[in-house]
Amino acid sequence: MVTWEYAPAPEARDTARLRESYQMFVNGEFVDGAGASFKTINPADEAVLAEVAEASESDVDTAVQAARRAYDRVWSRMPGRERGKYLFRIARIIQERARELAVLESLDNGKPIKESRDVDIPLAAAHFFYYAGWADKLEYAGFGPEPRPIGVAGQVIPWNFPLLMAAWKLAPALAAGNTCVLKPAETTPLTALVLAEICQQADLPPGVVNVLPGAGATGAAVVAHPGVQKVAFTGSTEVGKEIQRQVAGTDKRLTLELGGKAANIVFDDAPLDQATEGIVNGIFFNQGHVCCAGSRLLVQESVAEELLTSLRRRLGTLRLGDPLDKNTDIGAINSAAQLAKIRELSQVGEDEGASRWSPPCVLPERGFWFPPTLFTGVSQAHRIAREEIFGPVLSVLTFRTPDEALAKANNTPYGLSAGIWTEKGSRILWMASKLRAGVVWANTFNRFDPTSPFGGYQESGFGREGGRHGLEAYLAH
Ligand code: NDP
Repeated sequence: MVTWEYAPAPEARDTARLRESYQMFVNGEFVDGAGASFKTINPADEAVLAEVAEASESDVDTAVQAARRAYDRVWSRMPGRERGKYLFRIARIIQERARELAVLESLDNGKPIKESRDVDIPLAAAHFFYYAGWADKLEYAGFGPEPRPIGVAGQVIPWNFPLLMAAWKLAPALAAGNTCVLKPAETTPLTALVLAEICQQADLPPGVVNVLPGAGATGAAVVAHPGVQKVAFTGSTEVGKEIQRQVAGTDKRLTLELGGKAANIVFDDAPLDQATEGIVNGIFFNQGHVCCAGSRLLVQESVAEELLTSLRRRLGTLRLGDPLDKNTDIGAINSAAQLAKIRELSQVGEDEGASRWSPPCVLPERGFWFPPTLFTGVSQAHRIAREEIFGPVLSVLTFRTPDEALAKANNTPYGLSAGIWTEKGSRILWMASKLRAGVVWANTFNRFDPTSPFGGYQESGFGREGGRHGLEAYLAH
């Protein structure tokens, strides 16, 4: 096989305009808050990037009160077309500052620059553009003639797509006339804080958006605050369940976007080269830190060997390393804790009898790294076939008939996404109607668009984000 040598092509780190310290954003201003501070590190080399103010319970209270005032006095009363102008402005500034945001995201999260540059940041801008367009058309959205906002939204987001998740949460909430208190993940607070700066730059009225960095306790305080009328959470199923228990018995509205264990199903008539690319994109995009990752490959037995040969060859060409290098396909694992979890579950896979394979791959000495990994000989009872690993690890299972594929795909407590690879349109429609998954991709995987609703079944959560459906969670009707 021909191999290509690539000279390093690093993005300039200075573009990130990294500062030594970051404050929280409350009532339109950056403030220290009453809490301590914490360090955020670069997972690619473990170097400290910045010191970040940590929001305490009293900061949460101040932010919720500011959000309430902004809701009562300004934002909920403003005509939709005026709110839309602010959102368009935010979208445009995200585009203008796209390179800065992309480099900062890759530094703080560890994801390859080509993903933050081509996926995360453009999609974040697209979400603001899309919902800006809805702001003056809410009465035509199908939620009654006079849909009203709900109030203050408490939003807690994870570390895998930091800016994009902030956009998913903020854009529909603001378009619908709500104000927001957003808690980014502890390991990736930086781009949400630059987004707060962008809100300031766009002259967004004070208090409409508040960004409170912190750990789980800050998130819990946001969720529990009596002044919050709507809670939106993306993260682990475990914390999602905890939040559901906490919110039960209150009149808070809740949407949860939780984990997944998606089946990516390849039939014998599928174009295998294309499917190989789709499988790689399905599980190795963003190091597999993707709730809808295609982490279970179900391949029809008659083409399993051929597909695995092609997959192994392709994995051998993936480049792992410096996230800021434009040639990098696989970046760093986001944290030491996540790396430990991936290692532990991979060890369980071996202990339970599955065969583990990775291409020859030199891991950098410092930082958190895990090679792209395939497990074959996996049975449905294995933990690696049932639990979310949230890393670059693919479990391969086989099937003989479409019914068997369907039964295996649906044999999961989750239900966020699925993929089907086949030449037959009728089979795609038949499978898609029977798969218990919120998103089903056909002959592609991990495609996102702000116009398309996204969300899960069962333990993957409830409620939809994106599209017209995404407005529903933020409207009282
Ligand atoms: P969490 O669910 O703990 O984190 C998601 C967000 O919730 C973070 O902002 C977190 O803060 C916050 N949080 C934590 N505890 C609470 C609480 N009690 N109340 C309110 N907010 C809280 O995910 P982890 O980062 O711990 O990852 C653990 C596992 O979850 C991963 O290994 C992966 O399997 C899964 N995961 C799934 C995601 C998805 O999109 N489906 C996204 C991220 C993780 P903090 O960052 O400080 O912990």
